[in-house]
Amino acid sequence: LDIKNLQKVFSTEEVETTALNGIDLEIKDGEFVAIMGPSGCGKSTLLNILGLLDNPSEGSYQFYETEVADMSERQRAQIRKGNIGFVFQSFNLIDELTVYENVELPLLYLNTPADERKQRVEAALERMSMMHRRNHFPQQLSGGQQQRTAIARAVVATPKIILADEPTGNLDSKNGEEVMNLLKQLNEAGTTIIMVTHSPYDAGFAHRTVNLFDGKVVTEKVHI
Ligand code: ADP
Ligand code: ADP
Repeated sequence: LDIKNLQKVFSTEEVETTALNGIDLEIKDGEFVAIMGPSGCGKSTLLNILGLLDNPSEGSYQFYETEVADMSERQRAQIRKGNIGFVFQSFNLIDELTVYENVELPLLYLNTPADERKQRVEAALERMSMMHRRNHFPQQLSGGQQQRTAIARAVVATPKIILADEPTGNLDSKNGEEVMNLLKQLNEAGTTIIMVTHSPYDAGFAHRTVNLFDGKVVTEKVHI
């Protein structure tokens, strides 16, 4: 992933907010990158653009050698499918669906055949130690279990990249650590991970921390 001179301006009738103000960032295949910085510095905006949920106002974004900065929502959605998995602070599971059904959802969108769906969903649930809860609904689960379900959903279509926005933000330290170890395992198996976090401890799981301030990269630190 290669970002050059990226800008994002949000305009409403009254105000213009420059959320990203000239970001240069290269992320290599298989990297684990943490993005840190104070509230309002542009972390979520950057993650949304990296995840092809939103377009920059200016600048270039090469996604595996394809320029995606000017693509339509429809084109971006096409590239997102199966390439990018998302994990959120508040889990974003569908309450009316069971654990199994939540995890199966991305495969339904991809029209994956039923027998392959079953195999993939079960493998993802095994990997996240959630098979024993497959028929439960999100509200019947602890926070850690909900986030493990969300990670199973993010990985079920074997994406190249996982984007995580404060994945441990609603978890206690034990469940947070468990989630970080699962993300680390996924990274070690080859998935690129980009994670926004406020926690220096969680950032320590990454190879590199990128610090944002006022919509700019101010420092980068490579972890040894
Ligand atoms: P962070 O994730 O670091 O807290 P954000 O990326 O959410 O920061 O926000 C960066 C800036 O852009 C903030 O000033 C925020 O208010 C503004 N912003 C974010 N999203 C929007 C939006 N959809 N419309 C208008 N302003 C926005
Ligand atoms: P794990 O899958 O992490 O091994 P378990 O199914 O063994 O988790 O449950 C771990 C503990 O969390 C159990 O004591 C269980 O009762 C408790 N637990 C499960 N759901 C909730 C919930 N919604 N709120 C609080 N605690 C819960």
